[in-house]
Amino acid sequence: MTMRLVLDWDGTVTVADTMDLIVREFGDAELVDRFSDSFVDDSQPLPVTLQHVIESELATVATPLEEVVAWLLERVELRPGFVELARRERLLLLSSNVRQLIEPVLDHFGIEADLVANDLVSDGRSGWRIEIGGELCPACGERCKRQKLPPGEVVYVGNGYSDRCSALASARVFARCGLARYLDAIGAPYEPFGDFHQIAAALERPL
Ligand SMILES: [Zn+2]
Repeated sequence: MTMRLVLDWDGTVTVADTMDLIVREFGDAELVDRFSDSFVDDSQPLPVTLQHVIESELATVATPLEEVVAWLLERVELRPGFVELARRERLLLLSSNVRQLIEPVLDHFGIEADLVANDLVSDGRSGWRIEIGGELCPACGERCKRQKLPPGEVVYVGNGYSDRCSALASARVFARCGLARYLDAIGAPYEPFGDFHQIAAALERPL
């Protein structure tokens, strides 16, 4: 049976975390520093929920979506090998960012993929409001991405805090940065990766 390939978006498919970039440029950069991966303890949960972090960071952005997307498209860089991989098989992107900031990037690069993400409800002057869907996870207590994984066995690719719970529920994991340090800290298996050419090559070999 082939396993479904599920990829985190920010810092995994994209070279830089696009939500961080946007909040630094249009919102409160200090908030990003406070909750960034380099600040978060590699093995401990955040002192607040991830939902709270995302909601409060985007609430500091008061620029119209259209303007933010135009700015993003001039800067966003995708990790090498992703476009090729997305042409070879139907990928599932699973992100805690909002789909309104991901779909324009996919269109820009001519990529078709399935996308599960949160929703931007309002981009008004009083700050962006988002809706985080999904069930509360019995494992971590958040509306985490594990609850949104497809049925069956999954190969998961991620880099950060929001990937922790889903990585633990996946049959095979490719990890970098904070997610790799977390999995090291708890002694869970994963394969490190630098780009998607390496992942494509590794997938040719059984685990
Ligand atoms: Zn969870």
